[in-house]
Amino acid sequence: MNTVALTFDDGPCPETTPALLAALDGATATFFLWGEHAAAHPSLVREIAAAGHRIGNHTWTHPRLPPLTAAARDEEVRRTQDLLADLTGDRPSLFRPPYGDTDAAVAETIAGHGLTEVLWTVDTRDWAGAPAGEIVAAAERVEPGGIVLMHEGRPATVAAVPRVLAALAARGLRPGPLDPAVLERPVRG
Ligand SMILES: [Zn+2]
Repeated sequence: MNTVALTFDDGPCPETTPALLAALDGATATFFLWGEHAAAHPSLVREIAAAGHRIGNHTWTHPRLPPLTAAARDEEVRRTQDLLADLTGDRPSLFRPPYGDTDAAVAETIAGHGLTEVLWTVDTRDWAGAPAGEIVAAAERVEPGGIVLMHEGRPATVAAVPRVLAALAARGLRPGPLDPAVLERPVRG
């Protein structure tokens, strides 16, 4: 299996989504969307879906979920599910908890919405301000079947994407859908 999953969190973002879609140049990725941002930029959500990418739920306000009440956790997930289903015609089946912060209660909430939790196997640290070269170097280390964590709103990430795609291609790896076998053994990075 020579597929790896490229994932982009926290969008959509007017500053990076259009450039990121262009940079992906037909490669398939998964976008874990922040509900408030999706509500502010619905046309970008439709563009992501129209480009053939998979859309996942990343909560409405991007809180740390474990400390919340069950009702508040549910609201974060449900509101985002409803909006994304409304905008794209598809109810997301994948969920990524903000900060990768999850526990049994979070698992129970998302299971109630038919969602599968997805973490990652490689963290590019673009969220911490890593420059494009470091993002590429991190992404290059992904194993077949692995999941690469990247973010919207980071110009360095957009700049890194063509180089990441070239590096993967050189190793015979192809960006594609998330692999269920990997989902059962996610690693927090
Ligand atoms: Zn996030």
